[in-house]
Amino acid sequence: MSGEQAAQDSGAGDGGTPTVWDVVVIGAGPAGASAAHAAAVTGRRVLLLEKAELPRYKTCGGGIIGPSRDALPPGFELPLRERVHAVTFSLNGRLSRTKRSRQMLFGLINRPEFDAALVDAAREAGAEVRTGVTVSRVEQHGPGVPDRRTVAVIVNGSGGAAGKRDEEIVYARSVVGADGSASRIGAHVGVKLDQVDLGLEAEIPVPASVAEDWSGRVLIDWGPLPGSYGWVFPKGDSLTVGVISARGDGGATKRYLDDFIARLGLAGFEPSVSSGHLTRCRADDSPLSRGRVLVCGDAAGLLEPWTREGISYALRSGRLAGEWAVRIAESHDAVDARRQALNYAFAVKAGLGVEMGVGRRMLTLFERRPGLLHAALTTFPPAWRAFAGITRGKRSLAELVRTHPMARRALDSVNRA
Ligand SMILES: Cc1cc2nc3c(=O)[nH]c(=O)nc-3n(C[C@H](O)[C@H](O)[C@H](O)COP(=O)(O)OP(=O)(O)OC[C@H]3O[C@@H](n4cnc5c(N)ncnc54)[C@H](O)[C@@H]3O)c2cc1C
Repeated sequence: MSGEQAAQDSGAGDGGTPTVWDVVVIGAGPAGASAAHAAAVTGRRVLLLEKAELPRYKTCGGGIIGPSRDALPPGFELPLRERVHAVTFSLNGRLSRTKRSRQMLFGLINRPEFDAALVDAAREAGAEVRTGVTVSRVEQHGPGVPDRRTVAVIVNGSGGAAGKRDEEIVYARSVVGADGSASRIGAHVGVKLDQVDLGLEAEIPVPASVAEDWSGRVLIDWGPLPGSYGWVFPKGDSLTVGVISARGDGGATKRYLDDFIARLGLAGFEPSVSSGHLTRCRADDSPLSRGRVLVCGDAAGLLEPWTREGISYALRSGRLAGEWAVRIAESHDAVDARRQALNYAFAVKAGLGVEMGVGRRMLTLFERRPGLLHAALTTFPPAWRAFAGITRGKRSLAELVRTHPMARRALDSVNRA
């Protein structure tokens, strides 16, 4: 495509000058909405592109721990469906034990509602939102890119009849890729992964008597496959029941979910939704940017490796990406743009990267000794208090390991073994 044609495709400028957004964000999950909000509050022109119509379903437990709550846009009201005060732990269905807390441990939300509210917050901050728009690729060089400060975002791709292209081009000074775990923008940046898991979930509407039994309480089951676990997260009149395990043996993961549902006595209730989704964790040396394009959230492989908690990672990395995308948009040359992109990577690695490192070690421990973890949480009060503190957001696992010699020694010795 020629530069002239590109200018015409943008359609909005006078005299063939393309309209150039300061920041275009791709994907309107928590990462993208957070990035769009952070960029829009600075007064820049921000466009948020989402392939689905909102509200859209996302396979997710909807657990909102303290770090997620703390990373929400100011004044955002969490649409909580449940406040969790008790956790029942079981070891593959055995040794069930419930731990309770007077203070709320964490909250549960429905993703369609939560994500749509975050997008509303970004819109109120000044971002323009377009839904039903699929980004097929971004281009930073070549004849379709008017100049070196501009990224061409190609939307709606070549989905038409053979050879017929149905493309629109949007121009940006910088782009944030927040398009989830099957990210096209992640592929453009070259994101490298060292862990991929498969999560399976069922949304199960239940009668009031069953819902009452789960009110304010979740269940966490350490599963039969290495590193796997299952959960029941109540949301008023329905339960989100799911399991997660390393990708590779989808049949075994599905059997775990079926057995889990059966032994909870929930097999007689018809799920309203049954779905699966991959989660991905980045390799330590994976890039977080390429040129004027940054990635965040699942698209960047930013996820807690042990719990696979990703909403706080999406919100936190999204906010950082939005802030640094604004600086990249202001960069007049490639050297400055690169400096800002490196600053973004540094900020992510110094915070989320450190937490991921500890999470990886926890996963190793958990894969080898799930029974030890279960025993610690259910019979050793400091372990339960640590769990409660982490879910409430009082401290992170990384801080705990750094400041408690006993926790560090335990992790070191099991990892060495
Ligand atoms: C089974 C399961 C349970 C989970 N439970 C929890 C939990 O309880 N708590 C927790 O914190 N985390 C949980 N997670 C992780 C969490 O769901 C993710 O980490 C989180 O959704 C990441 O947010 P995101 O914005 O990066 O991506 P997403 O939420 O996936 O959003 C990406 C968006 O990009 C859009 N998109 C994709 N491609 C394109 C394109 N080409 N063009 C335009 N738009 C596009 C998608 O439609 C989507 O709206 C769970 C994950 C799984 C699989």
